[in-house]
Amino acid sequence: MDISLTNSRTRKKEPFRPIDPENVRIYVCGPTVYDRAHLGNARPAIVFDVLFRLMREVYGADHVTYVRNFTDVDDKINARAKESGRSIGEITAETTQWYLDDMAAVGVMEPTHMPRATQYIAQMVAMISELIEKGHAYEAEGHVLFAVESYTAYGALSGRSVDDMIAGARVEVAPYKRNPMDFVLWKPSEPDLPGWESPWGRGRPGWHIECSAMAEELLWKTPLEEGRLSEAALAHPHLFDIHGGGNDLTFPHHENEIAQSCCANGVEHMAQTWLHNEMLQVEGKKMSKSLGNFFTVRDLLDGHDGLPGVPGEVIRFVMLSTHYRKPMDWTAEKAREAEATLRKWRAMVDGVEVGAVPEGVLKAVADDLNTAGAIAELHKLAGAGDAAALKAGAGLLGLLTPELGDWSAVSVDLTALADRLAGARRAAMESKDFSEVDRLKSALLAAGVEVRMSKAGVELLPGAGFDAARLEGL
Ligand SMILES: [Zn+2]
Repeated sequence: MDISLTNSRTRKKEPFRPIDPENVRIYVCGPTVYDRAHLGNARPAIVFDVLFRLMREVYGADHVTYVRNFTDVDDKINARAKESGRSIGEITAETTQWYLDDMAAVGVMEPTHMPRATQYIAQMVAMISELIEKGHAYEAEGHVLFAVESYTAYGALSGRSVDDMIAGARVEVAPYKRNPMDFVLWKPSEPDLPGWESPWGRGRPGWHIECSAMAEELLWKTPLEEGRLSEAALAHPHLFDIHGGGNDLTFPHHENEIAQSCCANGVEHMAQTWLHNEMLQVEGKKMSKSLGNFFTVRDLLDGHDGLPGVPGEVIRFVMLSTHYRKPMDWTAEKAREAEATLRKWRAMVDGVEVGAVPEGVLKAVADDLNTAGAIAELHKLAGAGDAAALKAGAGLLGLLTPELGDWSAVSVDLTALADRLAGARRAAMESKDFSEVDRLKSALLAAGVEVRMSKAGVELLPGAGFDAARLEGL
């Protein structure tokens, strides 16, 4: 199966050729752990989870290494600890678990490695020392800064020149910077903030260096030491296959990662392919606290502001119905439609043995992760009644999986209710009193049950927003 991906580095859709098909190596920037993941944070996790599943399908489950980090040292975390009076360790441990639980609820598989920045300080210090030695970084007033002018390719990923950046960006002007665009690799820590001993005094790393150091360690150095890099991989030192993240990270974060990794290792590229997902909106508007349309993944799962909870599988389906390179608009209407579709599909594939992934679905996903096209293929398979193919194709998107299955189980006996409604209708035909029929019908509708009444009988189908609890005591 040929895979093609839109490479942000070359700005082209290209055939994907892994450096080593025996071990496809992927790095994706993960969350900073100080708060619940908002809905927009779930998008890259879900998009790159589909990429992971695709690579596992095409190259084999044991032939993909996927690294997604946790940023557990950051000024936002320090601020959260200060305002809440809780310890940093407590906050990062709790938030990390929240993230894992929320992502599992939307069907995201755990990556091969989930490194935490604080576990890789030694590697960061080593990389910073290397950058200083090679003349790409300098020490000033306890800080270590990367000198952007030392790297001519700086700005290539986002297509900006250093001069444009200075003109366009709100850069922190610090007297110790040689160039306003120079960015922090290491900074001094006050005694009450997390800090580590270093050649430049007690301090903590800047944000960008952690991804360079962890990608280097887990996708190059460790496999090298363990003899797990092929000749093909060894011919491209320090280079791995795919680096992903939200397009809000292109500048400065990814630009800085590239500068650090390429200059420390003296190589031309950090990753062969760069993938960036577009941002998320809610009901056509940018999600923001001031617009009142800001919610977390957990809000959505559990229900918020008087709204009922949305199953994780529904969230995933809605996310994947838009291509990752287009802005994604979350709407309640899309969630309702997705829920109705998934309920129908789940009933169809119940107890069915999963078959091979159908070619149409695989082709769509392999075509630059065209998940919307893959969902269209699934609709065709469902329409044709091919439950085994539907289940297998959906599985490639992480849908209709056993892990996500519980929500659609119907815990009430709808057949018994259908019989009661049919009986009430027969009685009403005699008595001309339809009040009981109306009462049952409106209670069923309110619980999200679709009521189909015909001469042949009564059929009840759980629809979008189905809530069995509302049928209790009916
Ligand atoms: Zn990163």
